[in-house]
Amino acid sequence: MNVIFMGPPGAGKGTQAESIVNEFQIPHISTGDAFRLAMKQGTALGLEAKKYVDQGLLVSDEITIGIVKERLQLPDCKSGFLLDGFPRTIEQAEALDKIMDSLGSSIDHVINLHVDRSLLLARLTGRRICRSCGATYHVLFNPPHTENVCDKCSGELYQRSDDTEEKVGTRLDEYLNKTAPLLSYYRNKGNLREVNGEQEIGTVAAQISLLLRGQAK
Ligand code: ADP
Ligand code: AMP
Repeated sequence: MNVIFMGPPGAGKGTQAESIVNEFQIPHISTGDAFRLAMKQGTALGLEAKKYVDQGLLVSDEITIGIVKERLQLPDCKSGFLLDGFPRTIEQAEALDKIMDSLGSSIDHVINLHVDRSLLLARLTGRRICRSCGATYHVLFNPPHTENVCDKCSGELYQRSDDTEEKVGTRLDEYLNKTAPLLSYYRNKGNLREVNGEQEIGTVAAQISLLLRGQAK
């Protein structure tokens, strides 16, 4: 099963991915995670990506498409995958179609998590992530049992450097200008499903699970 999670930054894509990849046993492919890892390792890719990520801007299509193309060819994607944060431009979506064609496969579900812009700033500035396992928390909406300690692996929680008020503004503008137009792209293809991402985390997860199992419209 090949799935795309769409939605603005802070909509809950990473949070929902945690349970969905577990339930369906498919790899979680987050381009944002890939860029952060490369930046941490200081690779050539990381240094290039940093110029954009640090400003809240999208990394170039050429670089991003190259990463995803390589990743989707790995054997663990044969039985499916969950793309989180890709595609983010029409050019990326068209490239993904070509990659899927070349693999003799296609995208089964595009899930759009809808969250009003007015909620996203609070979600993003309060987000905390585990340094060890990558689990996502929120200081108010989904706090860990012990402050700054991951419930799952006891790792230390940190705040992403682009989750500041200033950068969130730029990231949301990038979303509106470049990514939101993709919704009609997938709507026209007929595989876009809308989920209200403003509901509780467990409710959103249950609705996505039903959609992916073909038990809801
Ligand atoms: P995305 O991957 O789409 O950028 P995240 O999954 O990282 O978004 O979620 C952004 C922040 O909002 C995180 O701090 C997360 O804990 C919180 N969050 C996610 N889903 C919900 C929800 N349904 N209700 C309240 N807070 C949520
Ligand atoms: P995310 O973790 O999805 O919030 O992404 C963090 C940052 O990585 C974004 O603000 C962009 O700078 C970059 N990024 C992630 N995915 C993409 C993509 N598909 N296209 C371009 N840039 C991306």
